[in-house]
Amino acid sequence: MAKEDIELIKNGKRLDGRKFDELREIKIEVGVLSRAMGSAYIEWGKNKVIAAVYGPRELHPKYLRDPRRAHLRCIYNLAPFSVEDRKRPGPDRRSVEISKVSSDALSSVVMLEKYPNTVIDIFIEILQADAGTRCAGLNAASVALADAGIPMRDIVSSCAAGKVNGEIVLDLMKEEDNLGECDLPVAIIPRKKEVVLLQMDGKLTREEFKKAYELAVDGAMRVYKMQKEALISSVNDVIIGE
Ligand code: UDP
Repeated sequence: MAKEDIELIKNGKRLDGRKFDELREIKIEVGVLSRAMGSAYIEWGKNKVIAAVYGPRELHPKYLRDPRRAHLRCIYNLAPFSVEDRKRPGPDRRSVEISKVSSDALSSVVMLEKYPNTVIDIFIEILQADAGTRCAGLNAASVALADAGIPMRDIVSSCAAGKVNGEIVLDLMKEEDNLGECDLPVAIIPRKKEVVLLQMDGKLTREEFKKAYELAVDGAMRVYKMQKEALISSVNDVIIGE
């Protein structure tokens, strides 16, 4: 059976009842780990993701140091128990790729020039996965960086859109990601709407791409609002002493 023949949309609704432009439920918590400089936890549909920031701290080995800026190192890890078919522990091609694109995206907002010769480590741990984990990880990492008080030009906000049964839809869940026609994760710097990550798994026409891209950016802007709200309420909790 061809992918487009698998019924993922019934009577104009998706498998989980969402509309085409609807996000899954998102919950963000700030400062969840006491030993990290900054941390955040995000639940995004069935995804459960933790991000922890350590540093800026001395970078070893010394030859990796850059006298002009800090080195930002993002490590994305899909836990063995996070997916239906147990994943072999340790890095694989996919996690190395996601770590690289996440490091690049976050490096474009962190003021690395303020901390020469150091490293800022960001660990993204996927505890439960249901598609869109790279977006969830980036959103959590941005909030964790802000929680660590690391100077940034803005935060990074991310969301995916894609094509399922010929329809352009927002925020694909696992069945849609695996059985749909295309997944398009996007990450932006919200105030400038500058793109810092854009990947595409599948095929879209030029018009479909435009529609999916605009939908993903709109989703990322909605996530941006939630990131800001989570950060503001965490600061208020500290001031009020909760
Ligand atoms: N997945 C899995 N096993 C793996 C890798 C991925 O079951 O080894 C699942 C997991 O639910 C993940 C989804 O496939 O969220 C989609 O993976 P993709 O590579 O598209 O990345 P993501 O959408 O999570 O950023």
